[in-house]
Amino acid sequence: MTVPHNIYIHVPFCISKCNYCAFFSRACACPNWNKYESDIINEILYWAKLLGRVQVPTVFFGGGTPSLMPVQTFEKIMSVLNSAFCIQSDCEITLESNPGTIDYNKLVGFINAGVNRLSIGVQSLDDNKLKFLGRRHNVTDAMTLIGFAHKLNLRTSADFIYGLPGETTDTVIQLCKKINSIGLTHCSMYELTIEPNTPFGKMNLDMPSNDEMANMYNAIYETLNLTRYEVSNYSAPGNECRHNANVWDGQPYIGIGRGAAGRILIDEQWYEQRGAGMQFEKISNTDRAIERVITGLRTKRGVYLDTDVQKILNMQYVHAHPELLNITNNERISATNRGMLVLDEVILNTVG
Ligand code: SF4
Repeated sequence: MTVPHNIYIHVPFCISKCNYCAFFSRACACPNWNKYESDIINEILYWAKLLGRVQVPTVFFGGGTPSLMPVQTFEKIMSVLNSAFCIQSDCEITLESNPGTIDYNKLVGFINAGVNRLSIGVQSLDDNKLKFLGRRHNVTDAMTLIGFAHKLNLRTSADFIYGLPGETTDTVIQLCKKINSIGLTHCSMYELTIEPNTPFGKMNLDMPSNDEMANMYNAIYETLNLTRYEVSNYSAPGNECRHNANVWDGQPYIGIGRGAAGRILIDEQWYEQRGAGMQFEKISNTDRAIERVITGLRTKRGVYLDTDVQKILNMQYVHAHPELLNITNNERISATNRGMLVLDEVILNTVG
């Protein structure tokens, strides 16, 4: 029997591109939503035929800007998902959104059609920083959308970016205190990284040093009244993003849409899967175990030490560095707070 699969649906449209963005998304004033809908439905039907009517614990609409989607398009996609798969009764259904693209009535429409978690791209609580980042919204737009979501009792998360040129540990502490006062139960805190082929990539920005970034990262951990459960994600107890937690923990997921990729499991064989072109290719247990270590070590929960993972771990390194890695009950390994700060190096050495 096929195990449960989470579903990620990519919505590749934005009104305009932000200055730091290297994600797969297209600036498009009027997307052809009919074409988008029929492409997504074709993909859903294809994977349902291949996998059967699998259980689905989570669906995540990511972008791009999924909140630009007409509610009717969302309803149509949800109804096809419901007939093609077994969407669990407590399925977590997340919609990524940007302030200014969704009003109260539209949000109610999404909720009526199944959304039970809203992730909001707030990015900053300072209008000048929002402008610098190339965001289209201001702080009032962001606070309005958070207010709507809270009023509608929606599980709500907000994304923020820190480490902008000129930012200090103090400004980041102020941001965290504001986040605490808003009463969010989940937020993601991303360090600004400069990607080539973005407007920021061509600007030779005077970025904070690595040490300053590390101090900001520690200040976030100490100031937010939420628990860090992944390297960039913080939540109140029980409010973790189930979709991401499942994927990081190594559960299978189907990626739907042109910018999406997944990992599916059929008869105990893992496949790398792509939404676009409906392609899938075998991956070895060793490669899948490496992926699980890479994502699992990003989480507080850590990686479950099954036989495949044990085969690829450098246990000598793990035992030699208790300041970077914890072993719990001989069952899981996870990064310590110090390990989280140098995670890339820890991962490289752990699977080396
Ligand atoms: S809204 Fe998000 S996906 Fe769209 S351009 Fe900005 S950062 Fe990129």
